Amino acid sequence: MSPDLSNKLILVTGAGKGIGYALCKFLVNCGANVIALARDAEQLSKLKGECSNIKTINVDLRNWDATRECLSKVPPLDGLVNNAGVAIIKPFEELTKEDFDSTFDVNIKAVFNVTQALSPKLKDNASIVMVSSLAASRSFQGHSVYSATKAAIDSLTQSLALELGPRNIRVNSVNPTVVLTDMGRENWSDPKKSGPLLNHIPLRRFCEVNEVTDAISYLLSSNSSFINGHHLNLEGGYSVS
Ligand code: NAP
Repeated sequence: MSPDLSNKLILVTGAGKGIGYALCKFLVNCGANVIALARDAEQLSKLKGECSNIKTINVDLRNWDATRECLSKVPPLDGLVNNAGVAIIKPFEELTKEDFDSTFDVNIKAVFNVTQALSPKLKDNASIVMVSSLAASRSFQGHSVYSATKAAIDSLTQSLALELGPRNIRVNSVNPTVVLTDMGRENWSDPKKSGPLLNHIPLRRFCEVNEVTDAISYLLSSNSSFINGHHLNLEGGYSVS
């Protein structure tokens, strides 16, 4: 059942495709007013074409000052979803300085920037959801730099749960394993690649996009009103196998 997010104003980053795009549409269906942030103007227009009342912000989150400038115009918020992220998956020895910097810039520095810029605008009872990954706490081949950024996100989630809690603002993360976005479906269609990982997941399947949007909307809603500083693993039992 969709949670009631009527009249809540929620900002979603990384809304241009994948989980963020689907989430914006789902939140509108739950009654929310949505501000979609993305760096791809065409994708934002497409999203607006599907949900005309969505407001959009077009900015590259790697640009600290431009992001601050855009966010200064945002009205008071009930929710923030830090979803934008990049994944450069390569063996440790092959990762470059640019791979390291671009991953840290988007996956943690931008999350820090966006959250700090918006903190004064978060209303009493607001909820922040970080889109982290199971890779924050489990090792996967080629994920060293990505995992390090997601572990940093989990740490930030815990710190902010402590610091913003007294303002009645909750901060949690969702931590999926592979999610079957269009790209995920393409990347994991080869059974030779997906087989070993699927064998480690008791449910023997990957996460569907709607299962991520369901979890995020739950954490944004009053249904999760005493959940704070939590990492919600979406991994079909991977961690117990
Ligand atoms: P996606 O389809 O690649 O979408 C990522 C979004 O982030 C895109 O809209 C992208 O914009 C945006 N973004 C990247 N860099 C940006 C920047 N510098 N400024 C503004 N926006 C930027 O990926 P996804 O699978 O939906 O992933 C969403 C989140 O889920 C990420 O944080 C990812 O780490 C996490 N996650 C994904 C999976 C998975 O298997 N898919 C699993 C666990 C966690 P552009 O279109 O302009 O590139």
